[in-house]
Amino acid sequence: MSGVDRALRGAILAAAGNAAVRTLVGRYGMQLGARRFVAGEIAADFLHAARGANERGFAVAVGILGEGVRDREEAIAAAAEYRSLLHEFTEQNLDANVAFKLTHVGLNVDPSLAFDNAARIAETAHVNGNTMRLDMEESPYVDATLEIYRRLRERFDCIGFVLQSYLFRSLGDLEAVLPLRPNVRLVKGAYLEPSTIAYERKRDVDENYLRLADLALSSDGYTAIATHDPNIVEQILQFAAAKNLPKRGRFEFQMLYGIGTPLAEKLLRRGYRVRLAIPFGTNWFPYLMRRLAERPANLAFFLKGAFSRG
Ligand SMILES: Cc1cc2nc3c(=O)[nH]c(=O)nc-3n(C[C@H](O)[C@H](O)[C@H](O)COP(=O)(O)OP(=O)(O)OC[C@H]3O[C@@H](n4cnc5c(N)ncnc54)[C@H](O)[C@@H]3O)c2cc1C
Repeated sequence: MSGVDRALRGAILAAAGNAAVRTLVGRYGMQLGARRFVAGEIAADFLHAARGANERGFAVAVGILGEGVRDREEAIAAAAEYRSLLHEFTEQNLDANVAFKLTHVGLNVDPSLAFDNAARIAETAHVNGNTMRLDMEESPYVDATLEIYRRLRERFDCIGFVLQSYLFRSLGDLEAVLPLRPNVRLVKGAYLEPSTIAYERKRDVDENYLRLADLALSSDGYTAIATHDPNIVEQILQFAAAKNLPKRGRFEFQMLYGIGTPLAEKLLRRGYRVRLAIPFGTNWFPYLMRRLAERPANLAFFLKGAFSRG
């Protein structure tokens, strides 16, 4: 990442915490361009997008937009919504699973509430023959997330988690969980982290991604390669070929709704399993800001929408 990009990324993520920006973007953002990244505000919008994605050959992961919840009832309601979606996937025969943030289901209220809610979602996924994944949030949540993952993993096979290649610690975290035959999604990382704990240069983040992927693909678990980076995808295809991995069953590719679609379609055509992460919900503001921060050019696209509407 160039210095300018990094500064812009920092500015966008800092603006995400500003109440006035939140109000303004919250009021007009969906019409201006948030729909590029978000299926809509209600479950029906998501189900429509998920059916379309399945028809094109993609698996789907739903994310209900919400994080940093401070209210117990809200956290319980979020978990209930995930469970009801898992039932819906079975009833509608959708190839879809769930991925959620622990702060959405109560980590900031009480870690035991987050654990109980995550365990209920895991139980529902298990009963439905499906899977669920804990997203990874900012670095202060990493220890608690890994702890909850480990405790859930003792009881359930159907759960996965995420590691971020920008964090120095992730390689050690992966080595530590390998005996659990983990289902791990590898990402570069979407938050602004201090240089004392995270790589800053794109080259270092990418190199660490490949180290993590090499180790994960050499182990007994299942690996979700979640990136839109064509260079990384190409390297993964080479690793997989060198390790004689079948095209499906040991790993999959994952991309975000509205990003990297031509690459995702190319992988599908070549016979790989590709999952689209499709979010929906009214609380889309922080998610949109992370997508804008990842690629500041998106900001121009977003602002163009604002000005062309006067
Ligand atoms: C399925 C999935 C789940 C994720 N879950 C998490 C998570 O739990 N925790 C977490 O911290 N992060 C998560 N992320 C986000 C991730 O950390 C990165 O921020 C994001 O994927 C961008 O990095 P990249 O790997 O695509 O590589 P980059 O090097 O950032 O981008 C490579 C190329 O992809 C395209 N691209 C990337 N981002 C965008 C964008 N926003 N808009 C348009 N084009 C873009 C561009 O062409 C760019 O050149 C997830 C990403 C995916 C795909």
